[in-house]
Amino acid sequence: MFDKLHEECGVFGIFGHPEAANMTYLGLYALQHRGQESAGIAASDGTKVRISRAMGYVADTFDAATLADLPGSLAIGHVRYSTAGESKLSNAQPILIDCAHGQIALCHNGNLVNARELRDELVQQGSIFQSNSDTEVILHLYARSKAPSVEGAIVESIAQVQGAFSLGMLTRDRLIAVRDPHGFRPLALGRLGDAVVIASETCAMDLIGATYERDIEPGEVLIVSADGIKSIKPFPPAPISQCIFEHVYFARPDSIVFGRSVNEVRTDLGRVLAREQPVDADVIVPVPDSGVCAAMGFAEESGIPLRMGLIRNHYVGRTFIQPQSSIRHFGVKVKLNPVRSILDGRRVVLVDDSIVRGTTSRKIVGMVRAAGAKEVHVRISCPPTISPCYYGVDTPSREELIAATHTLDEIRDFLEADSVAYLSLEGLLSTVQSEQGKYCRSCYTGQYPVEFPRDEASYLQLALKLDKEVVAK
Ligand code: SF4
Repeated sequence: MFDKLHEECGVFGIFGHPEAANMTYLGLYALQHRGQESAGIAASDGTKVRISRAMGYVADTFDAATLADLPGSLAIGHVRYSTAGESKLSNAQPILIDCAHGQIALCHNGNLVNARELRDELVQQGSIFQSNSDTEVILHLYARSKAPSVEGAIVESIAQVQGAFSLGMLTRDRLIAVRDPHGFRPLALGRLGDAVVIASETCAMDLIGATYERDIEPGEVLIVSADGIKSIKPFPPAPISQCIFEHVYFARPDSIVFGRSVNEVRTDLGRVLAREQPVDADVIVPVPDSGVCAAMGFAEESGIPLRMGLIRNHYVGRTFIQPQSSIRHFGVKVKLNPVRSILDGRRVVLVDDSIVRGTTSRKIVGMVRAAGAKEVHVRISCPPTISPCYYGVDTPSREELIAATHTLDEIRDFLEADSVAYLSLEGLLSTVQSEQGKYCRSCYTGQYPVEFPRDEASYLQLALKLDKEVVAK
């Protein structure tokens, strides 16, 4: 309903807890914002890996009986948004297979850029795929590996894939976490008493009372077993390309991602934006919930008061059906309502974290004006989004991205705002500098750290296919 880039997926895992499936269920609850199409848990009691997956929200997918059918002290879980492959149950994760190396369940956050190439080769050699998700390719490679150990087979299979992958894997007696050498997507390591926890975001650890220890490092394979934790770095090092959009929008503000508090980064984005793009105004209004942290930073820096001039209805589900109605912009109105007493007669700075197509922003500006605002100035806490993402984020085609096809003045005119301004790339990067180094910012630059092999984009959405042709020129 909102015009945003869509989240990717969320991964959770736990080893050494008597209620592993229950803990995973809670962890997935905290990661629900990363994917709402399907959810699944695989658990092992040391003798057998069992799995439960279903379409829908975590709350609708599991009940006490389902969780009771997942006994054991180790488990992994996944919430999915379909970045590659259709939205259907066979694409839900974890994916569980039984092969010469034994049972293994896998869940994946990210997107493999050479999945189609590998899949075609595997199919030609006789492999039969159950799903059309890119993730299944890893399991086929694993099953075919002649390596003498589970660990060796995992390394051998993962060495063949390229792109973005933070993985949680579960065998009968092991939990394995892997982060691709570029470190595109986050994956954190924590402890809950003697139990070891992995999660896409630390907010999942907070919910179950676990303590964040550190990030799984780019290129690291972490194997947790009864023998303890073993960390190896079997892949050639690659330039670090952590997704900067995790900080801008995807991650929950109460998480620590890539070693930094998302809330602090987002508030800083607002402060820097206020310095770079000041405006004479009476009130700062965030677009809820995405613009709240940046709006607070903007208000702090500018000294202009922050007021909640737009109220969000949190009870609108994804399945809301737009009724036949003469009410214009019903879709946004059902989710946001302006507060006239805050907006009427005021010069308003509307702060949000991003503009994708511009369609929702235009409706929100119209809504604020209709509530009596004298002026509406749009301030965006990241640079213009000009290029699609190939690394696990659902993005429209370049043609649909308003900043790729319109000048700033044209965007202002389209939104019917008095002014529009974005944070600079330098401003964005200045807020995330950390010891852990470098960030992917391809959606703002069109420069991609991992290129697609030939024809690979055809495996993804048509939008990406179109864009690859542009990139190739
Ligand atoms: S292209 Fe953008 S959304 Fe995708 S990984 Fe890079 S920074 Fe993140």
